[in-house]
Amino acid sequence: MLRPAGADRAQSCGWRFPGEGRYYVGMCFAASEKQLFPPSQAPEAWRLFFLLAVLLPTVAGTLIYYWHRDGWARHPLARSLALYALPQSGWQAVASSVNTEFRRIDKFATGAPGARVIVTDTWVMKVTTYRVHVAQQQDVHLTVTESQQHELSPDSNLPVQLLTIRVASSSPEVQAFDIRLNSTEYGELCEKIRAPILRAANVVIRQSLGDLFLETFASLVEVNPAYAVPSSQELEACIGCMQTRASVKLVKTCQEAAEGECQQCYCRPMWCLTCMGKWFASRQDPQRPDTWLASRVPCPTCRARFCILDVCAVR
Ligand SMILES: [Zn+2]
Ligand SMILES: [Zn+2]
Ligand SMILES: [Zn+2]
Repeated sequence: MLRPAGADRAQSCGWRFPGEGRYYVGMCFAASEKQLFPPSQAPEAWRLFFLLAVLLPTVAGTLIYYWHRDGWARHPLARSLALYALPQSGWQAVASSVNTEFRRIDKFATGAPGARVIVTDTWVMKVTTYRVHVAQQQDVHLTVTESQQHELSPDSNLPVQLLTIRVASSSPEVQAFDIRLNSTEYGELCEKIRAPILRAANVVIRQSLGDLFLETFASLVEVNPAYAVPSSQELEACIGCMQTRASVKLVKTCQEAAEGECQQCYCRPMWCLTCMGKWFASRQDPQRPDTWLASRVPCPTCRARFCILDVCAVR
């Protein structure tokens, strides 16, 4: 990914290398009445054009040549990477570390192609059209400086909140930069960043719909009747996350056994509250959050339908 190529840059800045020069030479023949040759006798405007046609590629070429010396070590990207190089190795070692981590599937990446934000295990990067900002995770301080509310996002009908986060490094040579992301991605970013993320006093970060639902789900389950496990039965690890013990059992308590759409589930407790909440949310229509709490979903194991009133905490 990181390959300082001056030629690419020169092309992308609009002056296709000898294009203007070719145009001038072409015009010498095509419009001979304009007396474009020799350039010293050409009209003022054409002389200026000729000058630019020669000067700009020369400047670009010189710049590329300057960057290219010492194996591209003077290229701005190589210089910003060199800040992190160990004394015995060069910027190439840093670049290959970035490349290796970038290929990992667990990196955090977000943003439009013109302002991409990438966080890997060691690096925080922002890639814009003309610049790559790189900071090392271990010496960055992140601060949420601003939040903007937008009523509708283009890809869903839900309101979105955009956060601006300032990434500052404790090393004075590294310039601070801002990254922007949707507040729903904030949780994912926090998981990837090891340093604490500070928050300006006036910024309130809205939780994602999923997180908000899990909170509500947990508080509703708390008021449902508890389920007492028979003493002979041992609680196993949750089969969803394998991190905690199973903590909920589906017992039809919303209506009498033979009434309504809910069915009795005969599975033993197998899921933790969070996984059951995530399962419940995953079966909902993301466009209609108002219907979530009243809906029925099938038990993840036996497919018996249940509602939130039937989710009982295990005691
Ligand atoms: Zn679980
Ligand atoms: Zn079941
Ligand atoms: Zn029910």
